[in-house]
Amino acid sequence: MEKEITPIKDHFGRSLKDLRISVIDKCNLRCTYCMPKEIFGDDYAFLPEEQLLSFEEIVRLAETFAELGVEKIRITGGEPLMRKDLDQLIAKFTEIPGIKDIALTTNAILLPKRAQKLKDAGLKRVNISLDAIEDEVFKQINGRGVVTLPVLKGIEAAQKAGLQVKINMVVKKGMNESQILPMARYFKGKDIILRYIEFMDVGNHNGWDFKNVVSKKQIIEDINSEMPIEPAEENYYGEVASRYRYKDGGGEIGVISSVTDSFCGTCTRLRLSADGKLYTCLFASSGFDIKEKLRKGLSDEDLTEELTSLWGRRKDRYSEERAEHQGKNRKKIEMSYIGG
Ligand code: SAM
Ligand code: SF4
Ligand code: SF4
Repeated sequence: MEKEITPIKDHFGRSLKDLRISVIDKCNLRCTYCMPKEIFGDDYAFLPEEQLLSFEEIVRLAETFAELGVEKIRITGGEPLMRKDLDQLIAKFTEIPGIKDIALTTNAILLPKRAQKLKDAGLKRVNISLDAIEDEVFKQINGRGVVTLPVLKGIEAAQKAGLQVKINMVVKKGMNESQILPMARYFKGKDIILRYIEFMDVGNHNGWDFKNVVSKKQIIEDINSEMPIEPAEENYYGEVASRYRYKDGGGEIGVISSVTDSFCGTCTRLRLSADGKLYTCLFASSGFDIKEKLRKGLSDEDLTEELTSLWGRRKDRYSEERAEHQGKNRKKIEMSYIGG
């Protein structure tokens, strides 16, 4: 018999709707703002295989979360396409009652080989990260000297397979603000939404400084000066990107402004790391180890209770309190570990 859905709320009355699952902590790139190669070098200790949650464990958690109100699953990493047989996990997610949307965030390098299989398994859409359209800029950012062509081929493969594509571009001053307009020009009119992301102070290794943030206001002004845009309405409650449409009908763009215009009040997201820790905020210092409990034989009833209680205790609103946290050397989890 199908179980009933019992939506849960956190301390501030926010529902739990989105589950972001990191399936691996490894990546084939070394983006300077995420996994700087000086820190994530050849001898970096990534998670050993046995520490990764198995697909069975992930699905069990996803099923329980769906009973608590989760409707949307995003698969991320590290680079999620480096996890073997990802299509099998997606196929399992499509069978979970209550899950209405399954998405994947990827750097797209491995997409040409995988796009069709992922689509056939039930994936509907992908968010592809691309921070520059000019090779020289992109090569500097990704830390591996990779040109844009493999990513563009990944985008093409995804579209060909029938996947809806959005592009994510992190904008950092001194790194790629020169690419704001070239990226907009490239993707305009291609049925692909380009979303600019303010550089965030996730983790402790990316040398974040507020002076390197290019604000949403600045991004909008830059684009509007050449390609006039106007605000568009929210697609759904808690949408992270502010939407703008080109006045000439060339499609739309989005801006994710976690730093200059935060959105904690409508944050319905919970993150699960590849080694089974749950994080109630992207900027959390520590996670709740659910893997250990699962592996000790936690009953379904106790699992539901643990998850309900974890969300019930949630008081996170880091972006709204960012100024208070600055200069305190607070330990934070890395983006490559939790997946964004
Ligand atoms: N490897 C995959 C990819 O790049 O799409 C998935 C994981 S990656 C951590 C997820 C997203 O986080 C990417 O779009 C990446 O650009 C973004 N990201 C990483 N570090 C960031 C930071 N400090 N500020 C803003 N976005 C960041
Ligand atoms: Fe890898 Fe994605 Fe981080 Fe770049 S942003 S290093 S592709 S995990
Ligand atoms: Fe959600 Fe934390 Fe980001 Fe606020 S800072 S929107 S609570 S993840």
